[in-house]
Amino acid sequence: MTTPPYPPVSDADLAVLREQLGRPARGVVGIAARCVCGNPTVVATSPRLPDGTPFPTFYYLTHPAATAAMSVLEADHVMRELSDLLSDEEVAAAYRLAHEAYLGDRSAFGEVEEIAGISAGGMPTRVKCLHALAGHALAAGPGVNPIGDRALALSSWSPERCVCAEPGSSG
Ligand SMILES: [Zn+2]
Repeated sequence: MTTPPYPPVSDADLAVLREQLGRPARGVVGIAARCVCGNPTVVATSPRLPDGTPFPTFYYLTHPAATAAMSVLEADHVMRELSDLLSDEEVAAAYRLAHEAYLGDRSAFGEVEEIAGISAGGMPTRVKCLHALAGHALAAGPGVNPIGDRALALSSWSPERCVCAEPGSSG
């Protein structure tokens, strides 16, 4: 887990990101989380891309096995289960704080008025994209994003067990 400021991104990291995404990563400002092997799992992206496009998803999950695992959860009944967690006042309050933390991390790289107050994944009141929420949880570490933490706990993928070299994964 790494929150801003970030050390400079290496050419080796950019090469792994390109392989993971199948295209060059745009607007990279840092590597926010890594696999135990060192490969990036979450990239931090500028809130304004080099071509000027506003980009709210500051923490983006790049690891193919991780994104596949989140897609499996989204296709299952898990979205409903995670949404239901927000009916608990404490969880809902923590989720609002996660939203604020996300915006705070991103603001270190500039304020972009088109996306002011907009974070990612459905925060602060809905659960819409587990890729974004898990990305935030991996970047921030446990205890910041309760829904992202829960999604990772339910996931078959873990940053503690490297599967980067397995077929269907890359890096
Ligand atoms: Zn790995």
